[in-house]
Amino acid sequence: MKVLVPVKRVVDANVKVRVKADGSGVELANVKMAMNPFCEIAVEEAIRLKEKGIAEEIVAISVGSAQAGETIRTALAMGADRGILVKTDAPVIEPLAVAKILKGIVEAEQPGLVILGKQAIDDDASQTGQMLSALIGWPQATFASKIEIAEGKATITREIDGGLQTLRLSLPAIVTTDLRLNEPRYASLPNIMKAKKKPIDEKTPEEFGVDLTPRLEIVTTAEPPQRQAGMRVDTVAELVDKLKNEAGVL
Ligand code: AMP
Repeated sequence: MKVLVPVKRVVDANVKVRVKADGSGVELANVKMAMNPFCEIAVEEAIRLKEKGIAEEIVAISVGSAQAGETIRTALAMGADRGILVKTDAPVIEPLAVAKILKGIVEAEQPGLVILGKQAIDDDASQTGQMLSALIGWPQATFASKIEIAEGKATITREIDGGLQTLRLSLPAIVTTDLRLNEPRYASLPNIMKAKKKPIDEKTPEEFGVDLTPRLEIVTTAEPPQRQAGMRVDTVAELVDKLKNEAGVL
């Protein structure tokens, strides 16, 4: 079975993002970028499926600038077999456009499984996997915390409010990863060296007939309000009075 893993290049999760002075977005100049953490979990899961003999080939895909090729390289160093970079200099690539491109790649590659992150930590959209599933008409299981594959079916455990839900899907299918699915490995130095020789195919959005013009307009981006300093109160009565008359929460 072939597994496709779309990986997105985003601002590194450890970087404190700064809003641009004009509120048009966040500062990206000279900011450390990395693979979206949920995509790392997706790559790790695909590798584990390969180690169990369930997956035969893992293809890492990224839609983005030439630097998104580095994110694919990271996936190759972790253990993916080859990459597809859909290259564009478009500053914003919305989930619908990515899903349409992925549809084209799925049709060409015919995988048994596509594992995506549940969400990209830059746009926080949590839409791409769901849109891809709708576009190609395959079953989907989102926010997976356990994946088991046997006899042409995927059994997926999902964390939901108040417990766990188990879904059984027939393959081919779309799965998106939750945080507790696994702990991604670090790429070893020999594997980083080996990854340099693994192939990355380059494509363009036009080859898939996809127009990247944004459908959404970002009106403004703002920092969250500064947290106010706390205060000490002397009595419970004073606390209740403040909650009622100052905070307005009672
Ligand atoms: P989102 O719907 O933007 O929150 O992203 C969810 C998941 O879709 C990510 O974790 C990736 O697996 C995939 N994805 C989104 N954008 C891209 C992109 N530009 N290139 C590759 N994969 C992407």
